[in-house]
Amino acid sequence: MPSVTVKQYKAPVTVGKIVCIGRNFAAHAKELGNAVPDSPILFMKPASCIVPDGGTVIIPDYARECHHEVELAVLIGTPGQKIPAEQALNHVAGYAVAIDLTLRDVQSTLKEKGHPWEMAKAFATSCPLSDFVAVDTVADTSNLQLKLSVNGELRQNGTSADMMRSVAEVIAVMSDYFPLEAGDILLTGTPAGVGPVTSGDRMDAAISGIGTLSVQVQ
Ligand code: ZN
Repeated sequence: MPSVTVKQYKAPVTVGKIVCIGRNFAAHAKELGNAVPDSPILFMKPASCIVPDGGTVIIPDYARECHHEVELAVLIGTPGQKIPAEQALNHVAGYAVAIDLTLRDVQSTLKEKGHPWEMAKAFATSCPLSDFVAVDTVADTSNLQLKLSVNGELRQNGTSADMMRSVAEVIAVMSDYFPLEAGDILLTGTPAGVGPVTSGDRMDAAISGIGTLSVQVQ
């Protein structure tokens, strides 16, 4: 089973599922011509998607366009269902930097047909992920800087202050639909500036106070 490292822990943590929220930043929804949703858009990636820091991304041969989405990742430590937002942060074990890689052309076709998104979101290597830092080292997640560069050129530069649902609210709404277990990872949405990467590109992502993540596209 895939596992992740929490810097302050002695043993790795086995990962369960990865639950993601779409369009949690209004500016990103608008850049793709999407409506800002009033009901949550939730989807999952399997743990087998994870690529560690320094790893290699392989774009599947059925896709023409693979987009980067830098996101704050939340590691669940205490399980729960229908978690109230006021208690949600008590369920967190740690935070990390993630990239929700998305096959945009495949996703557009799936959206047109009304089909599920997994073929665009859940391919092998679709979730580069840094090591986690323990929750008690992060004072506040409401004003974190999220950045992503491709080959040294800054593409995404946003703040978690612009999230439509806060980290606590994301945990709460995901737990309304799915039981959250220890080892589950939640991706909390991407700021504006998403765009394509191709073979040979290097992605460098960073979140202030959380960490950095670099991967290469094969
Ligand atoms: Zn995303």
